[in-house]
Amino acid sequence: MKTARLTFRLALFVFLASADPLAAQNNPAWTTSFPAFRIAGNLYYVGSQDLGSYLIATPSGLILINSSFETSVPLIRKSVESLGFHFNDIKVLLISHAHIDHCAGSAQIIHLTGAKYYVMAGDVSVVESGGRTDFQYSARKSQRYPPAHVDRVLHDGDTVSLGGTVLTAHLTAGHTKGTTTWTLDETENGRLLHVVIVGSPNVNPGYKLVGNKTYPQITADYKRGFRVLDELPCDVFLGAHGSYFDLIGKYARWKNGDKNAFIDAAGYKAYIADREQAFEKELQRQSKPKP
Ligand SMILES: [Zn+2]
Repeated sequence: MKTARLTFRLALFVFLASADPLAAQNNPAWTTSFPAFRIAGNLYYVGSQDLGSYLIATPSGLILINSSFETSVPLIRKSVESLGFHFNDIKVLLISHAHIDHCAGSAQIIHLTGAKYYVMAGDVSVVESGGRTDFQYSARKSQRYPPAHVDRVLHDGDTVSLGGTVLTAHLTAGHTKGTTTWTLDETENGRLLHVVIVGSPNVNPGYKLVGNKTYPQITADYKRGFRVLDELPCDVFLGAHGSYFDLIGKYARWKNGDKNAFIDAAGYKAYIADREQAFEKELQRQSKPKP
């Protein structure tokens, strides 16, 4: 009984913490360092215990996905260097979406490395205003961060190429207006692997799906996003938070010699289906006429 209650409370905590940037201060996993490691091909994990940051190493320089919090930058730098790469070689900076836990460190990284910042159109004004134009959190000073200039505005289906590696930006909006799911292909032991880095399909606490004045198309965007996510071929399942794809559990298996631990097509499908169900349930709840 006690264990069940504890498990429930833990699950609730993980759900809330992984869905809501406001819970950042309460979730130590977001700022706890994690070993950097090679996932597949030229793709590496350089994030914290729960904030996913990814490094793609090409002969023409590095691509980094997600700058995370301002305080995450030294952790990311340490991870990049522990793999034998130079932080200054980051040429392109990308993000999963414009929330403080994924993009607050961008200005600092751009300042340190001279990297170019490529951001999906719907999130451009948010990152360039340091969170001031966010549809949900604009009034919350705790959700602000140093503004960063965007060098290239991305649209759905755009590709980012560097040194022979090509990433595709899929617009999977709703969570933010420019939430981006990144895909790329890697080859590992002669096997072609489709990699998906999920941007976030989650409905944060307080999000209005019905009658949202600052984001009128939010529900249509979520629905479209789920169609996109449903159709993406996925072998290697990754995301903006480690909790999406069980980073800790899979890394433990990886460390024990299972180099295929992150290959999880079924896990990807189950995660997207679960998040879609959660979205539909919340939409139903908000659509009920008030008594
Ligand atoms: Zn978010």
